[in-house]
Amino acid sequence: QLTDSLESTLKNLRGQGTLTEENVADSLREVRRAFLEADVSFNVTRDFVKAVKEKAMGKEVLTSVTPGQQIVKIIHDELVQVMGGETKELALAGKPPVGIMMVGLQGSGKTTFAAKISLYLRSKRKKKPLLVAADVYRPAAIKQLQVLGKSIGIPVYDEGEGNPVEIIQHGYEYAEKNGFDVVIYDTAGRLQIDEKLMQELEKARDAVHPEEILFVADAMIGQEAVNVAQTFFERLNFTGVCLSKMDGDARGGAALSIKKITGVPICFIGVGEKPNEIDLFHPDRMASRILGMGDVVSLVEKAQSVIDERDAKDLKKKILNNTFDLDDFLRQLRTIKKLGRLKDILGLIPGLNKLPLDKINEKEMVYVEAVLSSMTPKERKHPNLINGSRKARIAKGSGTDAARVNQVLRQFEEMKEMFKKIGSIAKKQNGGNPVG
Ligand code: GDP
Ligand code: MG
Repeated sequence: QLTDSLESTLKNLRGQGTLTEENVADSLREVRRAFLEADVSFNVTRDFVKAVKEKAMGKEVLTSVTPGQQIVKIIHDELVQVMGGETKELALAGKPPVGIMMVGLQGSGKTTFAAKISLYLRSKRKKKPLLVAADVYRPAAIKQLQVLGKSIGIPVYDEGEGNPVEIIQHGYEYAEKNGFDVVIYDTAGRLQIDEKLMQELEKARDAVHPEEILFVADAMIGQEAVNVAQTFFERLNFTGVCLSKMDGDARGGAALSIKKITGVPICFIGVGEKPNEIDLFHPDRMASRILGMGDVVSLVEKAQSVIDERDAKDLKKKILNNTFDLDDFLRQLRTIKKLGRLKDILGLIPGLNKLPLDKINEKEMVYVEAVLSSMTPKERKHPNLINGSRKARIAKGSGTDAARVNQVLRQFEEMKEMFKKIGSIAKKQNGGNPVG
């Protein structure tokens, strides 16, 4: 979706035919905006833009693509590469029990991820994990892990409020004695970087030498991500990153900043509070999310200048309630023509990139409009009235044929289906503003 939308913006740029300083600069301005929208750190954004610029300017222009397509590809590829290229799996090959230590600020999602990862390893990697409750500073934290562990049937080792380094050591020994092959240590966090905490984590690490130390960050962390990640990295040399709360509005720019600053791959993302709401991190998807969101913002701005406020609200309601009819279809079609290609508009909405958008193109739209205009208002309200003889009349009136009329009706059904999806995405995003 990123590719389509950025591409279409770029197609309209002046100076087609070569990658000029000017059209490169134009597209990089878009990228910079998308990055800052996504909370990528300033320095990382600057470096990224610089790298893309160098790559783009050094490039021969391919005759088969437009400069726009070419630069979009450069941007996308660079972003995927910076983000780590491929998905990282946890290293579990060591002598069991293999240790995984969760570290990060308070509230970042360590306890939740400990449970999620244990469940993931049991179901996807056929492991037998033990959870160790070593956050002794908040009594509720032990309870929280116990409740989570119980809900997924994974045992939790705890000693109440003891010494966290000893608990971790004992947890390891317990796992070894009782045939667990993975042991996941949930540790305490602080609201800010704290010397005492860092020392304690270092001691714990040196006591059990975990194979993986996973730094957990809240995807909403924004510009601070860099400092926090850098400090944890300097002190603990973490081996992987987990990004929580990707189900919210976060655009995930922290992922890019943390990866770029530490070079450590991102392993997992959290997409909800429940133990099964975890996904492997996919660099290409994240690239689209980071860039794509910037486009949605510009789409909304663009759309708002064309669709008046009331019309937009009305449409949103109809989409959400699934009462969108052929009359609305016609009205939107006319609005969308002012906005640009329908495919681009729909392609901008996250989550819709897998739909068969290619079926609706600009040429088609001329027929669609003709067919819709030849229907009576009653037919547009109640498309199931349209029988064979009505179809023939509509075809004649619009200068098309029955097959074309059928096709329009089918496209309408597909569009409704699409809007149903937009509706549910918008509901999830709570306050998302679909513009059709
Ligand atoms: P910790 O202090 O680092 O252990 O953080 P917690 O695991 O206790 O998480 C803090 C809060 O964020 C809790 O209310 C979790 O339920 C919530 N949380 C954690 N991960 C996610 C996630 O991926 N999505 C959502 N929506 N909430 C999350
Ligand atoms: Mg916790």
